[in-house]
Amino acid sequence: MSQKQKIKNCPICLNDSFIAIETGVHQCYYCGDEVQTAITCTMGHVVCPVCLDSNFKQRVIRHCKNSKAEDPSVISNVFLSSQLDTKGGTEEYFLITAVLVTAVCNFKKQYPSKELLLEMALNRFNIIPEQLVDQHGASGAALSAGVFYHVISQGQIDESKVWQNSNLLVSRCMDRIARLNTPPCTLRDILLVITICVDFLSETLQINLPFPQRLICQRNQSPYCPKEGCIFLDRSSRYPLFSGILGN
Ligand SMILES: [Zn+2]
Ligand SMILES: [Zn+2]
Repeated sequence: MSQKQKIKNCPICLNDSFIAIETGVHQCYYCGDEVQTAITCTMGHVVCPVCLDSNFKQRVIRHCKNSKAEDPSVISNVFLSSQLDTKGGTEEYFLITAVLVTAVCNFKKQYPSKELLLEMALNRFNIIPEQLVDQHGASGAALSAGVFYHVISQGQIDESKVWQNSNLLVSRCMDRIARLNTPPCTLRDILLVITICVDFLSETLQINLPFPQRLICQRNQSPYCPKEGCIFLDRSSRYPLFSGILGN
């Protein structure tokens, strides 16, 4: 076991204990690369050295580059079903941007342009001021949706339409998050905004991504979940809180 692996917690479960296993080729949880390794965390997770040294956003990009999935819930579940391992702030919302860019590129079989679009998305995302999200009533999740729409619709529709639609999408996300009026939850906001984006893509760009009718939070049984009023609990339907309350 290298010194570096000794001092890092497993990014998947945040467990700090690594154990020796039989040396062999194992697949990295994040990027899918096959790595020769002799250690896993005690939960059996394998992370390649590059992903282990990467930050959350880099890991998301490494996964998205190799993913062929067209359903954004499948891509996001890799991260949402494990610990997010971020430094807090708005970082985790990059998942929304990257997952949706990836799903659209995969759906359109535009694999060669995916890497460039992900880099563009990261650059745009990185200039969202943290203070704007913390102190000005803006939702980082909603702004991440705006980044996604800008990147994916450039060259597809008129420039003025890109601007208008991005604002419509961000305002729709802000409105729905604000009206939930339940304890804040990052995972809920991520799932909600991805759901809204899937519908908005269909409405404005006629891109109909495969997406489950019932979206269930993979961590709704964890101590992290606020439970009370969560719209993505197991019992929930796709828009349980919206019918009769928020409309569409
Ligand atoms: Zn682990
Ligand atoms: Zn990896």
